Amino acid sequence: MEYYLVKWKGWPDSTNTWEPLQNLKCPLLLQQFSNDKHNYLSQVKKGKAIKDNNKALKPAIAEYIVKKAKQRLALQRWQDELNRRKNHKGMIFVENTVDLEGPPSDFYYINEYKPAPGISLVNEATFGCSCTDCFFEKCCPAEAGVLLAYNKNQQIKIPPGTPIYECNSRCQCGPDCPNRIVQKGTQYSLCIFRTSNGCGWGVKTLVKIKRMSFVMEYVGEVITSEEAERRGQLYDNKGITYLFDLDYESDEFTVDAARYGNVSHFVNHSCDPNLQVFNVFIDNLDTRLPRIALFSTRTINAGEELTFDYQMKGSGDVSSDSVDHSPAKKRVRTVCKCGAVTCRGYLN
Ligand SMILES: [Zn+2]
Ligand SMILES: [Zn+2]
Ligand SMILES: [Zn+2]
Repeated sequence: MEYYLVKWKGWPDSTNTWEPLQNLKCPLLLQQFSNDKHNYLSQVKKGKAIKDNNKALKPAIAEYIVKKAKQRLALQRWQDELNRRKNHKGMIFVENTVDLEGPPSDFYYINEYKPAPGISLVNEATFGCSCTDCFFEKCCPAEAGVLLAYNKNQQIKIPPGTPIYECNSRCQCGPDCPNRIVQKGTQYSLCIFRTSNGCGWGVKTLVKIKRMSFVMEYVGEVITSEEAERRGQLYDNKGITYLFDLDYESDEFTVDAARYGNVSHFVNHSCDPNLQVFNVFIDNLDTRLPRIALFSTRTINAGEELTFDYQMKGSGDVSSDSVDHSPAKKRVRTVCKCGAVTCRGYLN
């Protein structure tokens, strides 16, 4: 007869018991168990043939299945935590069908910039509009000397490199104003998933995203660029790629998403990306401290990985000297694995 070692939910390992199959009323768990066993065997069998004699599981298989079960629980707990912390509409899912990696150990989810001590972010604008219809009237963007960023379908219509000025807390308009998009946060359900091509975690969309649509904001700690230089020396290659220079008009500040961030922390780089960076001003009109928003450059289908060009920065300037403005080039070079035809070979 087949017996299964059962770990009872909410009870310590010391109370585990051996149960015959007929006692187990958990088809999903049994399916998972058999999938994990199968996966492990198919990995091992690539090297050498192992006979599955059905008498007892080899310790290595049992160990793998237990690790996989623990990982599943840890990822589920992390997913629950991310969804408790996020304040936007879209759900966050977590998935690893590739290896035994669990949740990151030193990452804290935040919804907005976390200023370092000594840096203050103004959270109320000094000016607001009094339009009855922000789409047609001389609204906040006009006041800043730029065009309204969006069309009637909530898609961005201005070229990369142009700033977005959204309506703010001082404006007379309501939440349905067509000039309030980034401030409403991510609307799509996204999934943090383990990539199978060695790029660690990545992010994919679970729903179709229309072209030119707001997808997510890039948030992290706001630090001075001197502090970013210092951290850049300490970080390994991976850490360096989380430093995002706010170089819209000055280069005083950098966003560091290494420890504090949102889903954007997990978005991989591509030299042929489907997301584009824009500078956004809402309640903070200080041009040294734009918010960074990622918009789709094309239709992105459900299941597709989201990527942006780490080198593009806030300016969106594709001229060759935009790369030279970036302090990133002073840092250690990281090999790019994006696989695009136009891949430059390095992240920085
Ligand atoms: Zn207005
Ligand atoms: Zn306004
Ligand atoms: Zn408005």
